[in-house]
Amino acid sequence: MFERRGQQWFVEDVCAAEIAQRVGTPAYVYSSAHFSSRYRALVSALAGVNHRIFYSVKANSNLSVLRLFRELGAGFDIVSAGELERALAAGATPGDIVFSGVGKRVDEIDYALKLGIHCFNVESADELARLSERARLLGRRARMALRINPDIDARTHPYISTGLKENKFGVPIQAAAALYARAHADEHLDVEGIDCHIGSQIAEVTPLIQALDAMLALRRELQNAGIPVRHLDLGGGLGIAYQNEADFDVTAYGNALRDRLRGEDVAVAMEPGRFLVGNGGALLTRVEYLKPALLADAPSFAIVDAAMTELIRPALYSAWHDVLALEPCDAQPASWDIVGPVCESGDFLARGRRLALRQGTLLAVLSAGAYGFVQSSNYNSRPRPPEVLVEGDTFRVIRRRETLQDLLAPERECL
Ligand SMILES: *Cc1c(COP(=O)(O)O)cnc(C)c1O
Repeated sequence: MFERRGQQWFVEDVCAAEIAQRVGTPAYVYSSAHFSSRYRALVSALAGVNHRIFYSVKANSNLSVLRLFRELGAGFDIVSAGELERALAAGATPGDIVFSGVGKRVDEIDYALKLGIHCFNVESADELARLSERARLLGRRARMALRINPDIDARTHPYISTGLKENKFGVPIQAAAALYARAHADEHLDVEGIDCHIGSQIAEVTPLIQALDAMLALRRELQNAGIPVRHLDLGGGLGIAYQNEADFDVTAYGNALRDRLRGEDVAVAMEPGRFLVGNGGALLTRVEYLKPALLADAPSFAIVDAAMTELIRPALYSAWHDVLALEPCDAQPASWDIVGPVCESGDFLARGRRLALRQGTLLAVLSAGAYGFVQSSNYNSRPRPPEVLVEGDTFRVIRRRETLQDLLAPERECL
């Protein structure tokens, strides 16, 4: 996402240092060209496959980012009423929305039913019963898919693996046919598809195709029982390169899908998040203090103005993010732990990075476009950072920095 021109680093045609100067640090910066090109790469890999893309809102839910994907033709995969509200605010029509998640509340189901969203991805027998009951009370019919858990190892981090039998997500594929029969017989439910999402940051095509094969087999079984299935939702999970991993091979994925779906009269849905936005975002931060090691074998710390409150992935998943020094510096390169001001030893962004740093050096923590800002918090009463979208040679703030007023308002009104 960053390109070096002389002594300066650019995002598209905007100098990163200028963004930091104008909006301050910490700040998130995104490249609209990167987002669009990822979307187009996925669409062209799926040429010839009857498909719909539902961007997974939770990966990066900024309204301007949602609008960008909306304009490219995406629908949205949501997991809460809040995300539904965001999708609508970004211009989505209810027919372009699918609703995932294990714990949909009654009010969330009612909201989505009244709007008439495209599909509920149902994750349990209890939820199926609740959906039917709410549809009955509201005089609606709910289009639904059952999220099946195929017990396939996506070979990713345990916290983001979701398709194994020990995970809380979906229903075991062995139990699906009976639930589909129940749904098919229910006058308030319309069986629309079969859904699956086996994990995130998946590097290989194979586990996703194994999940597809499981869904195709289930579809055959359902068709034989007189239950038509219109779409297969393959979920998201396509991985990106954070360090030196290979990028997920969408071309191979598209080829495998074309091969498997030849002669099948079924549409494919997809819910990518990270793949579209992960490498198109970075967190800009400045060095506040340097604390070179005073004792042997102790790390040297660069304390920066961003923290786990802005980007929790290193603390939560031991995730590795590349760190780039964006300004030339006459210091000797040395090994630094890049840490924030929050009162937790888990508050680090990167460890043992060889960088030339001084007080005030501007850094970019890369690959932070997905699960970055959306997982930010106000811990330590830190206002959330702004988000900036670069478009060619211009940039604009797409979420302003929170103020101390913003922080206190919900409590001040209760004093
Ligand atoms: C999180 C999630 C996604 C998106 O996952 P990525 O790994 O970001 O592509 C898609 N579908 C469901 C149901 C999810 O929970």
